[in-house]
Amino acid sequence: MTDKLFDRDSYIKEFTCKVSHLYSKDDILYIETDRTAFFPEGGGQTSDIGTLGTANVENVQIIDGRIYHFVENSEENVKFFTVGKEITGKIDWKKRFSDMQQHSGEHIFSGIVHSLYGYDNVGFHLGTEVVTLDFNGILTKEDVCKVELLVNKVIWDNIDVKVFFPSDDELVLIPYRSKKEIDGQIRLVEFPGVDICACCAPHMKKTGEIGVVEVVAFEKYKGGTRVSILCGERALQDIRHKLDENHAVSVLMSAKEKETAQAVERIKKEKESLDYEIVGLKREILNLKLASVKSDKRIVIFDSSLEGKMLQDFALALMERSEEFVCCFCGENGQYRYCMVSDKFDPLHYAKAMNEKFNGRGGGRNGIVQGSLCGEEEEIRRFLTSL
Ligand SMILES: [Zn+2]
Repeated sequence: MTDKLFDRDSYIKEFTCKVSHLYSKDDILYIETDRTAFFPEGGGQTSDIGTLGTANVENVQIIDGRIYHFVENSEENVKFFTVGKEITGKIDWKKRFSDMQQHSGEHIFSGIVHSLYGYDNVGFHLGTEVVTLDFNGILTKEDVCKVELLVNKVIWDNIDVKVFFPSDDELVLIPYRSKKEIDGQIRLVEFPGVDICACCAPHMKKTGEIGVVEVVAFEKYKGGTRVSILCGERALQDIRHKLDENHAVSVLMSAKEKETAQAVERIKKEKESLDYEIVGLKREILNLKLASVKSDKRIVIFDSSLEGKMLQDFALALMERSEEFVCCFCGENGQYRYCMVSDKFDPLHYAKAMNEKFNGRGGGRNGIVQGSLCGEEEEIRRFLTSL
């Protein structure tokens, strides 16, 4: 059984240990040691990473109740690791410190939600991006902001965090939160006056080290609420990123940094009214263009301004003026979208011949065929006249 150094002291960054068991499978060499400061994945938190001897530890997992460090199954590592060998382990402290900031922040957040609203944290995930907390009750924006402030107040109070293993007799007297039934001795993490929760993970010694807790999002989730938080450096980076974005928007909008939303709203409204005006102007242009088209046996129009649905509208508006069909093209550099319409013949017949000739495709019914093709304008015009 590996001695879990992280259980008693979460600040051990380097330690010595002996290889007690190892085996390999596929590309992984699984190393068990007599003691370790590496936290194995569990309780919603990913494992520590770091180095063991000369090898990189990419993952640490509990397999059949035993802690295994995953290293590459290379020739070098197979030669290096032997049972009984004494080696040095070093954990990636930057990751661990951040994980502890997130995890301790989560406990305080969940503890305050539990004491204020009676909701349980029924799902916790400490990912590489945000930390998500799922509560089995509805939290409003005001609730979430209130909890966020209270959590930060606990951080500013810089209280000592207690981690202890109570006896069975002591345990029955302690009102602690627990996500599930736990086998074996229970490890409790207490933020005095705020929360006591069963937990297997490393935590901060003092709440001040969490730095800051920021709620980045909250949403309704499975009948309750999912809250996403960031703590410590991750929160600072997130705030810095958002401040930079806001600053850029304020410069672009010539607006004060605390009034960017109003400026964007104003621009959005202006854009909506301009869009409306553009639609009207396009319609006017279309009508002027339509007025200039003379009746003919076959009407063929090339116009790159006939975007989107305008292509079909234009062709249909001209249908009465043709004896056989109207074909309108939009596009440039030999790549065209087309719409062919007729109320006298089935335009599919003409369109098929045109597609064959100009490597096109398309289809339609009820007198309207739409498609695309490649070719030169003059050549297409000549072809449609000769059909
Ligand atoms: Zn925990």
